[in-house]
Amino acid sequence: MAAPLLFEEWMALLEKVFSYNFENQEDIVLWKWCSKKTFTTKSVYDHLSEEGNTNTFSHIWKTRIPYKIKIFTWLLEKGVVLTKDNMVKRKWTGDPSCVFCDQVETINHLFFQCPVAKCVWALVGQCIGATDIPRNNTQYKLWIDKWLPDGQKIHHFGFAAICWAIWKCRNKAVFDAKRIRHPAEILLHSCAFMKYWAGLYSSDFQGKLLDGIKVVLACAHKVLAQQAGAADARMLLPPAKDQPEEEE
Ligand SMILES: [Zn+2]
Repeated sequence: MAAPLLFEEWMALLEKVFSYNFENQEDIVLWKWCSKKTFTTKSVYDHLSEEGNTNTFSHIWKTRIPYKIKIFTWLLEKGVVLTKDNMVKRKWTGDPSCVFCDQVETINHLFFQCPVAKCVWALVGQCIGATDIPRNNTQYKLWIDKWLPDGQKIHHFGFAAICWAIWKCRNKAVFDAKRIRHPAEILLHSCAFMKYWAGLYSSDFQGKLLDGIKVVLACAHKVLAQQAGAADARMLLPPAKDQPEEEE
């Protein structure tokens, strides 16, 4: 049975090939994403930002966050951020345990499954009235759609700030041995990033964004105050400046 089928496929292929009108001319290279058929970085950016382009991560490219952070969240969604399990795949011989607990550090673990990450998402959930937490990146999209249906514009903005803050705190613990005392500190960091990035939005939207950030900030402070007691809580508050330590 296989042979006649293959023969039919072969004939169909020949027919297709010969349907093209070949000419005796030099080949030329044309860029298909630009009407002038020439390459421009703008055409690439426009193509990647197109709605409905599911394989191009358009939700990332169209979000108003620093370019470096877009790349970070893109790597995260591709599953190639250099967490310890990915380092081991690259012949790294260190201890693959998570710096916050004793389980293996994978992307899913660090950003969602780790007790520290779970606590961060639970606090975010508290701010938006959610009764559950996302367990992975795909679930986050469904989760935030469900609990913050009117906030499409900032769904990835918030995701980026939380994940970037987790990553920065993880790096401080791994490389500088500086550990956080409570997961709510990660939320404080993410608020600092969001405040800074809010400047990338139009001024009328910035107001709404800053109001939302205030709610998250208040939640983080409340938890820290409860945890440390009123006197100690003052020491846990971040510096009075609005900007994060480094430009993000
Ligand atoms: Zn962990």
